[in-house]
Amino acid sequence: MKVLAVVSEIFPLVKTGGLADVAGALPLALAPLGVQVASLIPGYPAVTDALAGAEIVRSYGDLFGGAARLLRGRAAGLELMAIDAPHLYGRPGNPYVGPDGQDWPDNAIRFAALAAVASDVGTGAVADFVPDVVHAHDWQAGLTAAYLRYGGGDRHRPGTVMTVHNLAFQGQFPASLVPTLGLPWSAYTPEGVEYYGAIGFLKAGLALSDRITTVSPSYAAEIRTSDGGMGMDGLLRARAREVRGILNGIDDAVWNPAADPLIARNFDTTRLMERRANKAELQARLGLAADPDALLFGVISRLTWQKGLDLLLDAIPDLLARGVQLALLGSGDPALVEGFVTVAATHPGRVGCVIGYNETLAHLIQAGADAILVPSRFEPCGLTQLCALRYGALPVVARVGGLADSVIDTNEMALTNGVGTGLQFAPVTRDALTGAIQRAVELWHEPEAWRTVQRNAMQTDVSWRRPAAHYAALYGELLAERTA
Ligand code: ADP
Repeated sequence: MKVLAVVSEIFPLVKTGGLADVAGALPLALAPLGVQVASLIPGYPAVTDALAGAEIVRSYGDLFGGAARLLRGRAAGLELMAIDAPHLYGRPGNPYVGPDGQDWPDNAIRFAALAAVASDVGTGAVADFVPDVVHAHDWQAGLTAAYLRYGGGDRHRPGTVMTVHNLAFQGQFPASLVPTLGLPWSAYTPEGVEYYGAIGFLKAGLALSDRITTVSPSYAAEIRTSDGGMGMDGLLRARAREVRGILNGIDDAVWNPAADPLIARNFDTTRLMERRANKAELQARLGLAADPDALLFGVISRLTWQKGLDLLLDAIPDLLARGVQLALLGSGDPALVEGFVTVAATHPGRVGCVIGYNETLAHLIQAGADAILVPSRFEPCGLTQLCALRYGALPVVARVGGLADSVIDTNEMALTNGVGTGLQFAPVTRDALTGAIQRAVELWHEPEAWRTVQRNAMQTDVSWRRPAAHYAALYGELLAERTA
């Protein structure tokens, strides 16, 4: 079985978030299941550099305003196709945003080009890689199914999957661009690419793909409600039979406390005491008091409304009153940055924060913190809590989306039966968050129970094995429908 993944970022070449992690890890997990994945990505400088000398498998005289070539090769263990189109992608820095912090003004054609080439490859343009399934990720790849549908001709038709990693990002552009994007006006209908008087890239993918997936079963349910649907809930309810939720995994080689080179001391379930060295190192790095007995909470996050960290700021007095410490790593909204920097300055030794993106420190926080807080208002899957499980930092999470699906709340029965892996709270309010922090403090004072939960957490299978089997089964369904 051959699958063309269509995606705007892929770890380790280009990453702005969890999407890249998924795109980079899923093909490797699918290979042993007999699914050969080639990933089609834009030829940003980091990508064309990595593919220097790659085979040119297709040329385009005019791809949305300039010549382009389709490169095919391997990099970082991945089978890649990259669109070498300097007029669209030959720009340094962030793939979506220019140096002025604004979206690139031509993002509509930049990502329409990705989808148009995906449709071209999907219909057989590359002779030795004719995909059975084309799998589009997020709005940037959303028009893929539209080009396949409205492209005309008697061509090979692959099965199509649209995966939503975060419904908050939808890719909407003016209706006047319909001809520029090379779409017929017949595509501009509520059944096609039209969305509230504009062109909706994600909307098009959701309306026109054979299957829709998102990254956890709970989020798959939430996006069909008016509260969580962000305007798409009607469409998603109408297509409920085609919507699936498949939880993400993490790369358990990169995130492995027994062999992680980025932490102070390696450990596993039989050597939990070794975590103390990581805690001491983390306390030193963040200017926290060197206190092994203080319950140390960690946060690693984008600082945005979605992540609920304004609630944590409001809960700081309660947190301090309970004698706990906080180590925060994040970047994002200036108001939240300012809030945490101020709190850290006001409470040295108790609250430490580092503003920025720092992979190494993220590993140390997972290894050294006793618990990881994730108070998101919504969370399609969330990766931080999966890493936290693996590192025995008990995840304390809002009961939403993938957080609800990946953490087993240590309620009284879970404690009695020894099955809890963390704590959940609901609703997502300051009071409920404070309540969860209090529950964590109480558990902390029962060291035997704490260690049991810690071991359960670390033994949770957070790898890609199970999710990959679900994707393989989904592709198999589409193949069976096509050959029936
Ligand atoms: P999202 O994609 O919504 O930001 P996820 O939890 O799905 O959230 O994935 C984000 C990933 O990036 C997690 O693995 C998280 O630990 C990591 N991360 C977030 N912020 C930082 C940061 N400032 N430094 C290092 N890693 C970070």
